[in-house]
Amino acid sequence: MSTYDAIIVGAGFGGLSAGAILAKKGWRVAVLEASTELGGCAGKFNRPGYRFQAGATVGMGFEKNGVLARLFDELEIDLPPMQRMDTIMDIHLPGQTIHYYRKKSKWFQEIERIFPERSSAVKAFFEEVFQVGTRLDALLLDLPVFPPKRLGDWVRLIPYLNGNTIRLAPYLTQTLYDRLKRYHLHKDRTFMTFLNGQLMDSVQTTAEYCPAFLGHAALHTFHKGAYAVEGGLATVAERLADSIKDNGGEVRLNRPALSVDPEGKEWLITSKRQRTYTAKKVILNNSIHNFTSLFNQQQVADSNISSLEDKNASWGAFVLYLGVDDIFPEDVLYHQIIQDPSKPVTETNQFLLSLSQKEDRTMAPEGKRAITLSTHTELHQWWDRDAYEERKALYVEKMLNGVETSFPSIRNHIDLQLPGTPVTFERYVKRDKGRVGGYIPTGKWSWLHQHSVYTGLNNVYSCGDTVFPGAGTLGTTLSGWIAANEAMK
Ligand SMILES: Cc1cc2nc3c(=O)[nH]c(=O)nc-3n(C[C@H](O)[C@H](O)[C@H](O)COP(=O)(O)OP(=O)(O)OC[C@H]3O[C@@H](n4cnc5c(N)ncnc54)[C@H](O)[C@@H]3O)c2cc1C
Repeated sequence: MSTYDAIIVGAGFGGLSAGAILAKKGWRVAVLEASTELGGCAGKFNRPGYRFQAGATVGMGFEKNGVLARLFDELEIDLPPMQRMDTIMDIHLPGQTIHYYRKKSKWFQEIERIFPERSSAVKAFFEEVFQVGTRLDALLLDLPVFPPKRLGDWVRLIPYLNGNTIRLAPYLTQTLYDRLKRYHLHKDRTFMTFLNGQLMDSVQTTAEYCPAFLGHAALHTFHKGAYAVEGGLATVAERLADSIKDNGGEVRLNRPALSVDPEGKEWLITSKRQRTYTAKKVILNNSIHNFTSLFNQQQVADSNISSLEDKNASWGAFVLYLGVDDIFPEDVLYHQIIQDPSKPVTETNQFLLSLSQKEDRTMAPEGKRAITLSTHTELHQWWDRDAYEERKALYVEKMLNGVETSFPSIRNHIDLQLPGTPVTFERYVKRDKGRVGGYIPTGKWSWLHQHSVYTGLNNVYSCGDTVFPGAGTLGTTLSGWIAANEAMK
């Protein structure tokens, strides 16, 4: 049996960040990862000639003072090569393409082109986004534990009561839709299609259900920088794992945690083939959805996980990986395709097409590109095994039809085509029932229904996309960092 200061369960962005921070501080850590890849939903897999991004593609937080940039600074390691995109993405609507530019001046010119009659209102709304986003950044720099669960958490929030946070109060108590009403934008169809498209990809919901501050933070983040990392976001996971090892820690693949049991004042983690590890602290990055599978009934009852888990829903993802001839222009790597603006922004009606960089030979051979296409999907339909193959074929077809509207010859250039469903996400990244991307916000107070890093069990912390500040590699990294900080206290 091996003994550690901390065991981290899961090598997603949350767990690797937590492990890297603790190892850097001299803690004896081991990260146990069930699969054979690092990075979880932001990981990769290889097929002859290609390296595909399993889920996440758009990197964020790499700009100066961004979360990932600060983490790498703290670890004293270099960020991998990456490209900051001038065009965050092209949004393809029927008969119209919106170029979503990063730089405010260029974006505001585009706003005038796309929304000529409402450009002042759209610009005023984005001014609000940038202002609120900047205030939120200042707040997150201190890695607060949120939402407060224990008396101590409330006490530690007192210093945050200052002019900055008081000005944020309206955005904590309204939805984004409420904010849009003030600008009379809530009834503008094109604007709402654009905005809801962006929100679905970042906060998993539309304006009506999105807490205003979450929406502002997500929109602001895109403008701070959307990055394409060489080799995909998995390269970031690889660097974090290397940092753990360089600082004396261990990262073990193919090593699922099967149970976590108390042993005196420590925790005993059992993996396959009866391998056991004891640790003073445990950080769970295996997704809150899997929490109950690791603990006994009493511990589940003592924790504060199950009640929230019952109240919250998540999306699944349908993903299509393509190896294709390079028929694409150079400058835009991310394309959002919205097939019919009158339909819900899920189930292939809206999807994101992410291209590997033209010159990135780690991802595709010369003259080829690796593509990840992904859309939100309702989970229940994928567990009807009789309809599974037919549904999968239908979704592939619907996605390729959508791609054809912008890249008409795509079907003639496909080398390799691999679909992935919620069943795939359960199988390869162990997401229970294929739930991914954190909880779906359901209204202005839904941020209170998130988990903090405290599980309610002594010395057991959680991090990941269901833990504040939540979904996306950036939020998840922050949650891992907060969990490591709390474990060290
Ligand atoms: C299709 C898709 C597209 C996305 N696009 C983007 C994007 O463009 N940009 C962005 O920033 N984010 C994006 N996201 C969201 C982002 O990928 C996730 O929020 C983030 O990667 C989640 O990280 P995590 O650490 O919470 O968990 P995960 O990535 O799920 O990692 C958890 C890890 O724990 C392991 N594990 C589970 N159970 C056990 C166990 N018992 N023992 C040991 N290990 C275990 C799993 O194998 C997995 O590796 C996307 C997500 C999806 C699904």
